[in-house]
Formats: sequence, structure tokens, C-alpha cells
Amino acid sequence: MFSGDPAEEMEKLSKLEDPPAQCCKLFKMGEPTYSCRDCGHDPTCVLCVDCFKNSEHRHHRYKISTSCGGGYCDCGDVEAFSNYAHCSVHILGTKGGKDGQQSHPLKKVPASIQVRGGRGWLQMRRRCLL
Ligand SMILES: [Zn+2]
Ligand SMILES: [Zn+2]
Ligand SMILES: [Zn+2]
Repeated sequence: MFSGDPAEEMEKLSKLEDPPAQCCKLFKMGEPTYSCRDCGHDPTCVLCVDCFKNSEHRHHRYKISTSCGGGYCDCGDVEAFSNYAHCSVHILGTKGGKDGQQSHPLKKVPASIQVRGGRGWLQMRRRCLL
């Protein structure tokens, strides 16, 4: 069911109302950034302090840099890291959206048809009475 490309799954999730699966925090000038030499695909894949502290990368061979401003946290970007793309906070965003919301619209369909049918009957009756 969810055997598709992980990046594709991320796109679907980011289009939902809740976007907590990715951090996307913008770095200010002089703010510390963390990159993981073990998992980062290239040196531009960086984490903010909060995500780094909550991620497995703190046990890896990481590198601290100082941001020049303008970059953003790559936490949650599965294309930026080969492992542990999510910190322990943002991983929750990937799990929450799947089961919670998808079952609702399917259950509502028969109900809405019933409501429409009911209104139709009322209008028919009113016309007959008038
Ligand atoms: Zn972050
Ligand atoms: Zn994070
Ligand atoms: Zn790592």
C-alpha cells in the first residue's frame, strides 16, 4: 500500500493540512547548523539545533557550521539524508497523517447522499402541498 517512493510519500504528506513532517526552519545569519557526515547526501544538508538534538545524528560524525543566513533546516527531507531524515519530533508528522484522516471522507459519502435524498423529498412534498 505504501510501497511507493519515499519522496513521493513526503510530497503527498506535505500537501495535507498538517505539515509537521518537515522542519523547514529558516536560518538567520550566525545561527549554528549541523550536518551529518555519515548520512547527509552533501554538505548543504543541514539541521537546526532543535532537530539535531532530537535526531540520531548526534551520535554520528557530525559537523557544526555557522549559517550565512538564507538556508533552511533539511529535517524531514528524505532526499537530503540517507538515514534518519526525521528527528524524533518530525517523525511524528509522517505517522499521524496516514490513518487518521483518510478513512473519514469514505464514510461521509453515503451520509451525504442520504441527506440530498431527504431534501429532495421535502421539496417534492412542499410543491405538492402548494
Ligand atoms: Zn529543524
Ligand atoms: Zn526536525
Ligand atoms: Zn547521521
